[in-house]
Amino acid sequence: MDAQIHKDSLLQVHKDALLKKRGEILSAGGIKPLQASMENNTRQGDMADQASGNNEVHIALKLKQTDAKILQAIEEALWRIEKGTYGVCRDCGEPIAEARLRAIPWTRVCITCKEKQGS
Ligand SMILES: [Zn+2]
Repeated sequence: MDAQIHKDSLLQVHKDALLKKRGEILSAGGIKPLQASMENNTRQGDMADQASGNNEVHIALKLKQTDAKILQAIEEALWRIEKGTYGVCRDCGEPIAEARLRAIPWTRVCITCKEKQGS
Protein backbone atom coordinates (compact mmCIF):
# COMPACT_ATOMS: atom_id res chain seq x y z
CA MET A 1 0.00 0.00 0.00
CA ASP A 2 2.88 2.35 0.79
CA ALA A 3 4.30 1.73 -2.65
CA GLN A 4 0.99 2.65 -4.25
CA ILE A 5 0.80 5.89 -2.29
CA HIS A 6 4.39 6.68 -3.28
CA LYS A 7 3.56 6.07 -6.92
CA ASP A 8 0.48 8.29 -6.79
CA SER A 9 2.39 11.19 -5.28
CA LEU A 10 5.06 10.86 -7.98
CA LEU A 11 2.35 10.92 -10.62
CA GLN A 12 0.97 14.07 -9.06
CA VAL A 13 4.41 15.72 -9.29
CA HIS A 14 4.61 14.90 -13.01
CA LYS A 15 1.03 15.97 -13.60
CA ASP A 16 1.71 19.35 -11.96
CA ALA A 17 4.84 19.78 -14.11
CA LEU A 18 2.87 18.92 -17.26
CA LEU A 19 0.06 21.34 -16.45
CA LYS A 20 2.55 24.09 -15.62
CA LYS A 21 4.45 23.61 -18.89
CA ARG A 22 1.19 23.55 -20.86
CA GLY A 23 0.21 26.86 -19.25
CA GLU A 24 3.58 28.39 -20.14
CA ILE A 25 3.30 27.40 -23.80
CA LEU A 26 -0.30 28.58 -24.11
CA SER A 27 0.39 31.94 -22.45
CA ALA A 28 3.61 32.59 -24.44
CA GLY A 29 1.82 32.41 -27.82
CA GLY A 30 5.08 32.70 -29.81
CA ILE A 31 4.82 36.47 -30.45
CA LYS A 32 7.85 37.74 -28.55
CA PRO A 33 10.60 36.79 -31.09
CA LEU A 34 8.87 38.83 -33.83
CA GLN A 35 8.62 41.91 -31.67
CA ALA A 36 12.32 41.71 -30.81
CA SER A 37 13.24 41.47 -34.51
CA MET A 38 11.27 44.61 -35.40
CA GLU A 39 13.18 46.68 -32.86
CA ASN A 40 16.41 45.26 -34.20
CA ASN A 41 15.60 45.98 -37.85
CA THR A 42 15.18 49.74 -37.42
CA ARG A 43 18.93 50.05 -36.94
CA GLN A 44 19.84 48.18 -40.14
CA GLY A 45 19.82 48.82 -43.91
CA ASP A 46 17.07 47.67 -46.26
CA MET A 47 18.80 44.49 -47.44
CA ALA A 48 19.84 43.40 -43.97
CA ASP A 49 16.41 44.37 -42.77
CA GLN A 50 14.69 41.96 -45.14
CA ALA A 51 17.10 39.09 -44.59
CA SER A 52 16.95 39.45 -40.84
CA GLY A 53 13.17 39.76 -40.94
CA ASN A 54 12.74 36.54 -42.89
CA ASN A 55 15.11 34.74 -40.60
CA GLU A 56 13.25 35.86 -37.50
CA VAL A 57 9.93 34.75 -38.95
CA HIS A 58 11.46 31.40 -39.75
CA ILE A 59 12.75 31.03 -36.19
CA ALA A 60 9.37 32.05 -34.79
CA LEU A 61 7.62 29.44 -36.93
CA LYS A 62 10.09 26.78 -35.86
CA LEU A 63 9.57 27.68 -32.22
CA LYS A 64 5.83 27.46 -32.69
CA GLN A 65 6.10 24.02 -34.27
CA THR A 66 8.22 22.80 -31.38
CA ASP A 67 5.73 24.21 -28.90
CA ALA A 68 2.87 22.53 -30.74
CA LYS A 69 4.69 19.19 -30.62
CA ILE A 70 5.40 19.54 -26.91
CA LEU A 71 1.82 20.59 -26.32
CA GLN A 72 0.56 17.45 -28.04
CA ALA A 73 3.00 15.30 -26.09
CA ILE A 74 1.79 16.93 -22.85
CA GLU A 75 -1.84 16.17 -23.71
CA GLU A 76 -0.89 12.55 -24.42
CA ALA A 77 1.05 12.30 -21.15
CA LEU A 78 -1.91 13.67 -19.17
CA TRP A 79 -4.14 11.13 -20.89
CA ARG A 80 -1.71 8.32 -19.99
CA ILE A 81 -1.79 9.47 -16.36
CA GLU A 82 -5.59 9.13 -16.43
CA LYS A 83 -5.32 5.66 -17.98
CA GLY A 84 -2.60 4.59 -15.56
CA THR A 85 -0.02 3.87 -18.26
CA TYR A 86 2.14 6.94 -17.62
CA GLY A 87 5.89 6.37 -17.31
CA VAL A 88 5.94 3.28 -19.54
CA CYS A 89 8.01 3.38 -22.72
CA ARG A 90 5.88 3.42 -25.87
CA ASP A 91 8.43 1.35 -27.81
CA CYS A 92 9.73 -1.34 -25.44
CA GLY A 93 7.14 -1.28 -22.65
CA GLU A 94 9.77 -0.86 -19.94
CA PRO A 95 9.34 1.75 -17.19
CA ILE A 96 10.92 5.10 -18.01
CA ALA A 97 13.53 6.23 -15.46
CA GLU A 98 12.17 8.60 -12.84
CA ALA A 99 15.02 11.07 -13.46
CA ARG A 100 14.12 11.19 -17.16
CA LEU A 101 10.47 11.83 -16.36
CA ARG A 102 11.46 14.65 -14.06
CA ALA A 103 13.59 16.23 -16.80
CA ILE A 104 11.04 15.70 -19.60
CA PRO A 105 7.66 14.76 -18.08
CA TRP A 106 6.02 14.53 -21.53
CA THR A 107 8.50 12.00 -22.94
CA ARG A 108 7.01 8.92 -24.61
CA VAL A 109 10.06 6.63 -24.68
CA CYS A 110 12.83 5.52 -22.36
CA ILE A 111 16.39 6.77 -22.82
CA THR A 112 17.49 3.51 -24.49
CA CYS A 113 14.81 3.73 -27.19
CA LYS A 114 15.44 7.46 -27.61
CA GLU A 115 19.11 6.80 -28.31
CA LYS A 116 18.19 4.04 -30.78
CA GLN A 117 16.08 6.56 -32.70
CA GLY A 118 19.15 8.77 -32.96
CA SER A 119 17.25 12.02 -32.51
ZN1 LIG B 1 12.08 1.88 -24.38
